[in-house]
Formats: sequence, C-alpha cells, structure tokens
Amino acid sequence: MTSYHQPVLVEQILAAAGDARRVVDCTVGGGGHALALLGHGATAVLGIDRDPEAIAAARDRLGREAQLLEGAYDLPHVLDAVRSFAPEFVLLDLGVSSRQLDDEVRGFTFRPGAALDMRMAGSGPTAADLLNQIEERELEQILRTLADERRARRLAREMCRRRDKRPFVVSDDLVNAIRAVLGPRSGPGDFARIFQGIRIAVNDELEGLARALPALRDALAPGGCMAVISYHSGEDRVVKRAFQEWARACVCPPHELRCRCRGRPLGHLEPRKPIVPEESEVAANPRARSAKLRVFRKAAQ
Ligand code: SAH
Repeated sequence: MTSYHQPVLVEQILAAAGDARRVVDCTVGGGGHALALLGHGATAVLGIDRDPEAIAAARDRLGREAQLLEGAYDLPHVLDAVRSFAPEFVLLDLGVSSRQLDDEVRGFTFRPGAALDMRMAGSGPTAADLLNQIEERELEQILRTLADERRARRLAREMCRRRDKRPFVVSDDLVNAIRAVLGPRSGPGDFARIFQGIRIAVNDELEGLARALPALRDALAPGGCMAVISYHSGEDRVVKRAFQEWARACVCPPHELRCRCRGRPLGHLEPRKPIVPEESEVAANPRARSAKLRVFRKAAQ
C-alpha cells in the first residue's frame, strides 16, 4: 500500500483558498492538499512537481480530476502553463515530502549507508558531487546560511580534509564529519539541520523560489491568493521579503524626490504574521513542526 503523508495546515489553506475554483498546486507531492481543495469546491486543479514519482503518486490519488505537469515551478514553460491557467489560488508547500525523505534510494536521509543524493528531480549533480567539488569557502557559506551552523568554518575545513583522503559517498561520511566537529553530543537534530541545508543547495531551492514568486503573483487572477508553507528560515525569509515588498505602496529608492514607481500596493498579507500549526497538529504530524504559512492576497484591480 502506498502511504501518503498528512498534508500540513489544511484547514488554514482551505480558509485562504476561500471559494477559489481554479487552483494551482506548485508542489503537488502526493496530492494531499490538492485533494482537500477539490473537496472544498475547486473545480479545476493544476498540480506541478519536479519529482516524477510525486507526479505518479498524485495521478493515482487524484485521477482525472487534476491536470498534472512535471517540472520545477520556476521553469519558463511551467510558469507559462500557470499563466494560461489563470488561477484564483496558488499554493506552494516547500521542501521535501515525507515519502521522499523515507525513500532511502533518494538519499535525503542520514540513515546509515544511504547514498548522498538529495536531488528532487533525479538529474544534475548529487549531494556527493557538490560536497566533493565545492570550494571550502562556499561550503562554509552554505553551512552558515542554509544550515544555521555556528561552527561552519570548522566543519567546512573538516569536510574538505576528509574528502581529500576519501570522497564522500554515503550519509555516514557526512555524519562522521559532523560528529567530529560538533562532538559526541551532536545528534539527529543537528544531522537533520545540516542535511536540510545541503539539500537546499543541491536543488538551488531559494533562487528558484525567489525567481518564481513574482511570476506566480502576476499569473494570479485579480483578488486571488497565494499561500506558501515553508519549513526553513531561509525559505521563509524569501517569502516574507517578497510579500512585504509587494504590499508596499511605494518602492522608489530613498533618493527619488517624487514617486516614480507603481505608487500603490500590489496586494496585502493576510494576516500580517505567519500562521503556524496548533500543538495538536505538530504532535500528530512531525512534518508540521517547523511549518510557517504566509498568505498574500492580490489587489482586485
Ligand atoms: N502538499 C503536498 C506535499 C508537498 S511536499 C501534499 O499534500 O501531498 C513538497 C513537494 O514539492 C515534493 O514532492 C517536491 O518534489 C516538490 N518540489 C520541491 N521543490 C520544487 C520545485 N522547485 N518545483 C516543483 N516541485 C518542487
């Protein structure tokens, strides 16, 4: 039997979608949110995912009710498809699915012996390629900014020292390097944080997100809504900055004497603060633990 993960913050997503009929789910995964939206009054759903296995799972689950498209949501032809769909609601539920995490072959896990892969689309350089080839400085930067690692410099140095002796191949190679620097008290929380940061780098996730957001906003029907669930401070920062910038009336640089920009907000955040799951949801679904939902409503005109 296929196991699907529990979609996160479903009630809140349905509330944001309101009576939207045309919906694009940019990270359809196993189709959990898409199915809930179809049950809530959506009549046309376009589901996107860069992972062919997710597309197959969504097809199984959603049947003919949804149109599905394989590809990263920031690719030009995918954004064209979103534009022609003219959605009233756009959803992004970022990161990896529990199914991807659980599938050892995909190499997102730090379970012993798992290959260091981490590619969502299954093509391009793997995590092992990245770790074996990247310059020490750049590695340090990834560890600091994407993995929130305080000992980024020492860890980067240790990883480079180790890979020069023997290239990184499996999760244990990375876990051992982390243990060597963070000490014997380091554990699954540290491994998860550092693996997540490396995964974000392998898939170029923040750049893709920052590129896609304005195009998705433009594709939204006037008065429509965009909802983004993030699981990582770097992801959330990209979303928050974009939404805040769009909500400002004037975006002229400070030295402009007269406003030359659009001079009106493109929409507003709804609500201003991010929405987080109730404790009961976190207890029932570990993936909800770090989830933050931000919602932007596009101006009606
Ligand atoms: N909301 C889904 C779960 C989404 S998990 C559900 O309820 O089942 C996140 C999904 O986003 C994963 O399947 C992953 O492959 C996909 N994904 C991550 N980044 C992507 C990107 N840039 N483009 C398209 N899909 C992406």
